[in-house]
Amino acid sequence: MSIKSWLNLVSAITRLPGIGPKMAERLALYLLRHPGETDRFLNVLNTAREKLAYCPQCGDFVETDGSPALCHRCQDPDRGNEQICVVEEVGDLQALERSRAFHGKYHVLGGVLSALDGVGPEDLRINVLIKRVKEQSVREVILATNPTAEGETTATYLAEILRPMGVSVTRLAYGLPSGSAIQYADEFTLAQAVEGRRHFN
Ligand SMILES: [Zn+2]
Repeated sequence: MSIKSWLNLVSAITRLPGIGPKMAERLALYLLRHPGETDRFLNVLNTAREKLAYCPQCGDFVETDGSPALCHRCQDPDRGNEQICVVEEVGDLQALERSRAFHGKYHVLGGVLSALDGVGPEDLRINVLIKRVKEQSVREVILATNPTAEGETTATYLAEILRPMGVSVTRLAYGLPSGSAIQYADEFTLAQAVEGRRHFN
């Protein structure tokens, strides 16, 4: 293997979120030294890319045979349409589900507004959310974006659009320390955050 291929590999891994150059080198070495493990990983990744799609309504993952279908939560008659909990990413949805504090429907934005990263409203699933609030009997939208600067900006932006639509807009009560991620919060803290949610202003 030429050094160029090595550098290309490390640089490709560095482009993954949260991976610095040191970690990228460690991963590259590991992948090269464990071909069996690497093959298994590539297989699982390819299968996931083939089989997983996004639910056209909430944006969660859904296992698909090619045709777009609603996920099991969106189809669940025991989950009313009255409450929608808006989260940044699928991982946040899964963490809130583990807390068992929320029994309504979800909406995954697919990120947060960020001038720095060039993410505008049109890059997020905001239009689908507005459509849901307009067309379904939604009474409350819980803004469960992370307590980061971008998460707060996104929540404020959404609240300004949603409030005039006559829907109650609430925000999670953060026993969560400021800046911490919903995805990694423990179940008890998350359940309390949902329980103590407040009107968002
Ligand atoms: Zn869904």
